[in-house]
Amino acid sequence: MWLMTPLREWLKPPKNLLLILFLLTLVSVTALAWSGWKLLQQDRAGQAQQRLEMLDAEADRMVVTLRGTLAETGDRLSAWLASPSQAGIPRDGVLLIARDNALNAYPEGRLLYYPNPSPDPEAPQETFAQGETLEFQEGQLLKAAAWYRILTESREASIRAGALLREARALRKAGREAEARAAYTRLAGVGGARVAGVPADLAARHELDDPALGAELLSGRWHLTRGQFEFYFGGPVPEDRRLLAEAAAVVWNPPSGPGQTTVWIGHTPFLAMWRTLGSTRAVLIEPPQLPAAERVFCAAVDSEGRLVAGRRDRSGRAAIRTAAETKLPWTLYVTATEPPPLSAMPPNQRYLLFGMGVMALFLVAGTYFTARAIRREIEVSRMQSDFVSAVSHEFRSPLTSIRQLSEILALGRAPGEERRQLYYDTLVRETARLQRLVEALLNFGRMEAGARPYHFEETDAGALLERVAAEFDHQAAESGRRIELTPPGYPCPVEADSEALAVALRNLIDNALKYSPHEPAIWVEWKMENGQVAIRVRDQGAGITADERRAIFRKFVRGSAAAAGNVRGSGVGLAMVLHIVDAHHGEIHVKSEPGSGSTFTILLPAMEKACPASS
Ligand code: ADP
Repeated sequence: MWLMTPLREWLKPPKNLLLILFLLTLVSVTALAWSGWKLLQQDRAGQAQQRLEMLDAEADRMVVTLRGTLAETGDRLSAWLASPSQAGIPRDGVLLIARDNALNAYPEGRLLYYPNPSPDPEAPQETFAQGETLEFQEGQLLKAAAWYRILTESREASIRAGALLREARALRKAGREAEARAAYTRLAGVGGARVAGVPADLAARHELDDPALGAELLSGRWHLTRGQFEFYFGGPVPEDRRLLAEAAAVVWNPPSGPGQTTVWIGHTPFLAMWRTLGSTRAVLIEPPQLPAAERVFCAAVDSEGRLVAGRRDRSGRAAIRTAAETKLPWTLYVTATEPPPLSAMPPNQRYLLFGMGVMALFLVAGTYFTARAIRREIEVSRMQSDFVSAVSHEFRSPLTSIRQLSEILALGRAPGEERRQLYYDTLVRETARLQRLVEALLNFGRMEAGARPYHFEETDAGALLERVAAEFDHQAAESGRRIELTPPGYPCPVEADSEALAVALRNLIDNALKYSPHEPAIWVEWKMENGQVAIRVRDQGAGITADERRAIFRKFVRGSAAAAGNVRGSGVGLAMVLHIVDAHHGEIHVKSEPGSGSTFTILLPAMEKACPASS
């Protein structure tokens, strides 16, 4: 119990209630958002787990496939070791078979140049010593040529080639061009021998300026070293073949036993695999390749972290298979092709988000409307208490004068007949005022409850206005003021409950007088306008601000003019006017500027037989 009292006290002030409501909503929305977020995260984590499992499965599949491919290549290498063949060599790769110092490349022509010189035989220098003495020391070129010619008949291709080269050279120096070319042409027909370190036919065709030489060099038919190739070829070397030849230069002589390695030529990697059998070595060089994968990116990375093949995506999580665990030449990174886009959010997540959004919306909207209702309630209760104090005040002043005057009269203290009459008149006026007040409040109460019956009958609005205005004559005259009526000169009949309409008009005239206390007059006019009877009550008083112009028609609302002028009133007058005008199917408008007065206009539907002077 002792706890309840302070709690109740604390809960009472509306400001605290609103704060509690706001905090409760905040906590609920936060809790909702938090649990939504948690659920989403859980869902996401589940998805991520699934993706990871998929990546793991793909990585394992990749390892198995790659191992299989490498094992197959190893088997093929062993077979090639026994009998080299063109079949089965990858399109961008080359197979090298090295035996002692002899090196062959398959498919033929794939290697542009070789890491070792041609194994073809070349006649020793001394074979031609005598001829060269004649040629170089004695300058007897033709004699030397004749001497060489004898050797051109040798049965050994290397001697024949060496002799033909020298004969052609001596003849050319002697100016016997035609004979020299004939010798070079013969030399071009000698195969399997070297002269000056290069194949004899190549040397001859070079001397003969053979235009097809470049294309044939590219076909790779001669076993040349890099320097020789570049000397004869001259033009730009196709990059892929240059890289392959460079890779061959690195791995052509591998250590014995089976093996594999990644060779880097500049930024280009090659996979080299080899098998050996005695002194024979079979080496396959090819660009590294990974098996095709659909839903994933796969990257092969060497021990130094360089990307050997495939595509590496560092943005997401990857399934990793290290070279050490798989015994593959590379470490494999398998990643998903793309992160799941937001639109691909599964339907259950979308429903969840949507549901939470709707709940949050309801919560916020509910709080808003509740807060608004509470605020309104607070406002109404404030206005009601203002109303009670205003009404009590209204009652107090006539009651006080009635009491004082009746006491004076009862005690016979009124001096003279004239004064006594004055007191009686005042008593009558104040009682009437009290009655009007009570009537007005009762009327308003009935109207509010919808229990005020209206009795419509033909009423002349002009006559009614004149009657109501006359009621205020005494009050106006007392303060030296007047009510100016502007009758139109014709009757303005309306279908009205004359008593109710009189109440409305009384309120407007009373207000005009109340809110322009220092002005000498107020104006009342009525006439026909567009088939309606327009009744205007105008004053030059305090006026009404724009933001108050609608509010003053609500019950209990008292405007700034009332507060500023400390004017008596209860705040129900205009609400009642609006009620009555509505019941007459009419309209009420107010035109006002603060400081320059107000004009209230009531428009009532005119009766059909109304006067003609409408404008
Ligand atoms: P009350 O006059 O008892 O306060 P009403 O409902 O008649 O209540 O009027 C509501 C408010 O409208 C007034 O408090 C006053 O601020 C404003 N008002 C009404 N008539 C006039 C007028 N002629 N001039 C200036 N203000 C007016």
